Amino acid sequence: MMVNRTQELEEALAAALSELRAAKSKIEYLETAAETNERLVDGGAEALRMAHWHAEFSDIAARLAHVGGWRVDLSNLHVFWSPATANIHDEPHDISPTLEAALDYYTPQHRDRMSALFSACAKHGHPFDEVLQIVTAKGRHVWVRSIGEAVQDDAGRIVAVEGALQDVSDLVAARDKSEDLSRRLYQTLESINDAFVLLDHDWRFLFVNAQAEALWQRSRDDLLGNSIWEEYPEAVGNSFHVHYQRAVAEGRAVQFQEFTPIFDKWFEVDAHPTPEGLAIYFRDITQQRVRDHQLRLLEAAVSRQNDILLITEAEPIDGPDGPKIVYVNEAFERRTGFSCKDVIGQTPRILQGPKTQRDELKRIRHALEQWQSVRAELINYTKSGEEFWLELDIVPLANEAGNLTHWVAIERDITERKEFEERLWIAATRDTLTGLFNRTVLREALDQRLQEMQETDGSLALLIVDIDGFKNVNDTLGHDHGDVLLANIAKRIKSAVRGSDKVARINGDEFMVLANNSTAQDTALLAQRLLDSFRVPFILYGRSIAITASIGIVIAPQDGDDPEVLIRNADIAMYQSKAAGRNMFTRFKPSMLEEVLRRTEIEQALQYSLFTGNDDFLLVYQPQVTCDARRKVVGLEALVRWQGAKHGSVGPAEFIPIAEASGLIRPLDHLVIELAATQIATWAKAGIAVPVSVNVSAISMQTEDFAREVLQHLARHGVKHSLFQIEIVETVYLDESSTTLENLSTFWKAGICISIDDFGTGHSSLSYLRRLPAKFLKMDRSFVEHVGIGLTDEDALAEAILAMARALNIDVIAEGVETEAQFNWLVQNGCTQVQGYFTGRPISPQLLEAQYLT
Ligand code: C2E
Ligand code: MG
Ligand code: MG
Repeated sequence: MMVNRTQELEEALAAALSELRAAKSKIEYLETAAETNERLVDGGAEALRMAHWHAEFSDIAARLAHVGGWRVDLSNLHVFWSPATANIHDEPHDISPTLEAALDYYTPQHRDRMSALFSACAKHGHPFDEVLQIVTAKGRHVWVRSIGEAVQDDAGRIVAVEGALQDVSDLVAARDKSEDLSRRLYQTLESINDAFVLLDHDWRFLFVNAQAEALWQRSRDDLLGNSIWEEYPEAVGNSFHVHYQRAVAEGRAVQFQEFTPIFDKWFEVDAHPTPEGLAIYFRDITQQRVRDHQLRLLEAAVSRQNDILLITEAEPIDGPDGPKIVYVNEAFERRTGFSCKDVIGQTPRILQGPKTQRDELKRIRHALEQWQSVRAELINYTKSGEEFWLELDIVPLANEAGNLTHWVAIERDITERKEFEERLWIAATRDTLTGLFNRTVLREALDQRLQEMQETDGSLALLIVDIDGFKNVNDTLGHDHGDVLLANIAKRIKSAVRGSDKVARINGDEFMVLANNSTAQDTALLAQRLLDSFRVPFILYGRSIAITASIGIVIAPQDGDDPEVLIRNADIAMYQSKAAGRNMFTRFKPSMLEEVLRRTEIEQALQYSLFTGNDDFLLVYQPQVTCDARRKVVGLEALVRWQGAKHGSVGPAEFIPIAEASGLIRPLDHLVIELAATQIATWAKAGIAVPVSVNVSAISMQTEDFAREVLQHLARHGVKHSLFQIEIVETVYLDESSTTLENLSTFWKAGICISIDDFGTGHSSLSYLRRLPAKFLKMDRSFVEHVGIGLTDEDALAEAILAMARALNIDVIAEGVETEAQFNWLVQNGCTQVQGYFTGRPISPQLLEAQYLT
């Protein structure tokens, strides 16, 4: 563009200069000719004078110079025209007009002037020589030089005026044209945006345009006529100097770019030798240099930047051809494996593959169709087919006219971020141990399903599956084995459900299954399949482990439509399964909720009683008597009674399990021991020394330092260890945890007798008795219930327990003896002691003292 403009200017200037030169030389020629003419005219006049008015002009001279003669005789005011003069007027040669008629040939502007000139000459002898315009007979406008002189007679009177007439139209036209050209050239040179100077052959300023004045901040009056090297001596010898000299010496144009420190500017300079000297244009390209430099920097930066850059043509956005790629940077080549050559002319579609998100592409296309920028995250493919994630910003690029020409896509590889997000997602949604969903995801799925059910009919079943006795596995095999077992359990659950069912682990050993559109019957079958899946024992490191589960079921919308409520109800149903003996499933019933509510209320009231008024609790005592006719009271079992304000009638069979489940049993056990110790001390003071046995929960036995604290209680009250006994259920003996064993052995070493309560209801394995001997076995009421009435099987069971205890040298206390028949049978079969309504109900200390102890 720059070159074109220069060329144009150069051509215009050359043309203008050559025209100027042509015009000048024509002027010069004509001027020379005019000089000749003048001489000719003078000569003509002389000749006229000499030959009087008869004399003829030389035809050749007249033709050459378009010069004619004329004469006006003042006596008759008739005009004589030479043939050349007649020719100039486009009139026939023989015409001889009157003065008036001759003057009428002059244009209206010039007629008066001519008339005045003539009069002055005729009256006063003033000669004239003027260029004026006539209109010929043919209507041509002709510039003529009219010369006139007075002719005097011998007496000195003016008798005639004679002169010459020359057609000077060419001269005038040439002069006009020359003036016009100079003006145009001047205007051109003034108006161009470049600074322009013309130097003559001695390097002097011939012309300086306004831009040059502005650029150098010098007026042209200052510069014109002065040598450039005198004005700018510092430029002598520098590259400007060298280039100009070369241009002049070689007679050809030079073009160069140079920085000029004095102006602090970059110039592009064109120097053209001309006949006059040297024409020089200066264009300030400082801005452009800066832009070029920036552009180069930008290009380097773009090609080397880490972001992938891809430029395509604007259209077609759609269609098989798609927009063609016109540029890709190095980062693109590095990441995709495609070289620039591979992709230029192709469409970006070559980067797409099977996993590229169609809907995302659609969205991009839609935005592009609207000429809108768009941001997207896309799966792309490298040349070798490796898949990677790109985040791309696509922006439209418009030309100066505002038409969209290209799309620029700036892209970043976000594969790592995506992988990280995926890992995060898995971590956030999956249970790491089993690979099942976690609670949050299942909860969300439940919410969503319930939402859907509001719009379309449908149902869902929610099952909570709790592994029975999993704590024992953990405690006996260790947590690592427990984890492996859980993972295997998860697999069995997974295999028992349908593919569309969602399974989550929601707690240590608790799983949840969400089944869509499951009827009550379907769900029961599903629950049974789950239970069946555990039937085959698990094999863990060579050990066979039998596992069962308790399942609670809710079905929505029948059992509720709130997610929280549904989960709670499934939980309640699951606990019901546990309470009812485990390894079973239970569908939620509203009555269960009532029971739970009652349990919750009791728990809260218990807590309130325990921490506000210990007076709510008191102990009753049931005699343990010798199993013979004497029925001598040899011991008392302390049994707690609760007089809670609202729950006066709640017995220990109900509130003790609640206290155990809530942990309230610990403070309760302490309280009972305290009350019992007080009572023993009171009786001791009164001389009553009967051993009192206190029930201690398994949970307290699992509590560190429990035995030591009990001993402290006793010491505080000065209670002899021989008068204090404890009763524990047999599972405590099965508990191999070190804390329980420590507590047991502390009691044993302190000489406190231990009774095994409810014997026969738990895992009856007497091997544990070898480790820590118990003083008594309390044969559970269920064994006593049917003895002595002739049921041989029942009798045999009770006999076996009695025989076994004897073999182990342990005394047996039969519980719940209500009838004489039972009592007699026990006496006959060698039972040690009995305790039951038959021999004495649990009663207050006062009653007890009155009835038995005095
Ligand atoms: P347990 O230790 O087996 O206590 C004997 C239970 O049998 C007592 O019920 C007692 O009243 C009842 N009983 C005694 N003789 C007969 C009889 O001839 N027929 C019938 N049907 N029942 C008889 P209670 O007092 O309701 O206690 C129930 C259970 O609550 C106790 O069973 C014991 O496990 C627990 N418990 C009671 N008091 C305490 C306590 O202070 N601490 C702890 N940890 N548990 C206690
Ligand atoms: Mg007991
Ligand atoms: Mg008992």
